[in-house]
Amino acid sequence: MLVDCHSHVWAYPGHLSDEFVNEANARSRGHKLDLDIPPEKHLQAMSGVDKVIVFGLRAHHSGLRVPNEYIATYAASHPEKVIGFGAIDPAVDPIDETLDEIVRLKLRGVKLGPIYQNIHPTDPRMMTVYQFCQAHRLPIMIHQGTTFVRTGPLKYALPILLEDVVVEFPELKMIIAHLGHPWIADTLVLIRKHPHLYSDISALHYRPWQFYNALIMAKEYGVLDKLLFGSDYPFTTPEAQIDGLRNINHFAEGNNLPRLDGEEIERLIYSPTLTCLGLENA
Ligand SMILES: [Zn+2]
Repeated sequence: MLVDCHSHVWAYPGHLSDEFVNEANARSRGHKLDLDIPPEKHLQAMSGVDKVIVFGLRAHHSGLRVPNEYIATYAASHPEKVIGFGAIDPAVDPIDETLDEIVRLKLRGVKLGPIYQNIHPTDPRMMTVYQFCQAHRLPIMIHQGTTFVRTGPLKYALPILLEDVVVEFPELKMIIAHLGHPWIADTLVLIRKHPHLYSDISALHYRPWQFYNALIMAKEYGVLDKLLFGSDYPFTTPEAQIDGLRNINHFAEGNNLPRLDGEEIERLIYSPTLTCLGLENA
């Protein structure tokens, strides 16, 4: 089964500020991004995958305000394929009310992004969210890594800051987005130590040298089985991600550099994401 564990829907204008969209375009390696992604466009882009986890993001500090109802309505209309995650901005949203809303709307996980939300990952408000998610078996997708957003504080983005979280909430299932780039080694040693901590490999293939090194390092640390397939659509697509994975050995042609074998590559594409996250019945 092909599962994309990292994708977005949102309306622009509406859910994203002009500043966010302008900064995204300024950093998009020369191509103009279409960031108005209503559900029908998302569904079409996901025609090649069996299941897809989708979320918005709520981060007032960075101009992202995707309502949870928007995600829930989409997920409920395609229950065979679309798994909706809710979002909370612990810096401004009422915590208890928003978490209750996520459960009431039958969303299956929670998206967080401390660098976008301008909050330390172990702030007491964040700890309340983790506690709730552990108790309700809601996996968390956390953007713990860098971003193009100029006002996002890098001091809150280090993956290593999550260690105190997983020590306190050892049953919480959590995915670090994008291998925590550029702190990839930190992410790999963290997920190696903590059984319910995973990372996705989305949106890395367009930095092919970094992606190659990241996956070889993951192999050497023995954590390839903690990596989950994802695209980060609309920033890239599942097809481009698969191409990037199947071309990963490009740098190792005609020399003695290490390689991933074919089985390892296919395991990364067909990662058992729903089992890892306890979402088998989703
Ligand atoms: Zn994303």
